[in-house]
Amino acid sequence: MRIEEMLAYNKQFVEGKEYEAFKTDNIPNKRMVIVTCMDTRLVELLPKALNIHNGDVKMLKNAGAIIRDPFDSIMKGILVAIYELQAEEVAIIGHHDCGMSHVETEVFTQKMRKKGITPETLQTLENAGIDLHEEFRGFKTVEESVQHSVSIVRNHPLLPENISVHGFVIDPGTGKVDVVTLDK
Ligand SMILES: [Zn+2]
Repeated sequence: MRIEEMLAYNKQFVEGKEYEAFKTDNIPNKRMVIVTCMDTRLVELLPKALNIHNGDVKMLKNAGAIIRDPFDSIMKGILVAIYELQAEEVAIIGHHDCGMSHVETEVFTQKMRKKGITPETLQTLENAGIDLHEEFRGFKTVEESVQHSVSIVRNHPLLPENISVHGFVIDPGTGKVDVVTLDK
């Protein structure tokens, strides 16, 4: 199992005191929160492309860098970073070629069925008011999606006035970052 390899590596990492190069505290040096996508291509590329090191920013991720509603977990993370951890700037960074663009929710639920989720379960969720098509909806263009997420943050009733909220799109091939919207 891959997890066993990881745990064996971890033992060496700690014994070799490799953590010493990463020592920092929980206050972001750059006073910034970044919201981005869980895409594997961005794991190292995004921090390198923006010169971000351990301790520099709070990083929140989900599928698509999407903020769906004003009290979803990403938005709560942003508010905690602001009120508890001294963040003053928010950057939402979508990316080209994102798996969440053009998600076919019909196909997505078919895949659930193939993996053994029963129609009864899907029906029970629907009866409980959980709209899977809405929950897993993707986006048509990444710029539009970033702009929408930025608006949710900018217009949030609990966002203090001194917070800047920006939107960007990163190229997962080159690391090039383009501006969608810059605040103040
Ligand atoms: Zn993505």
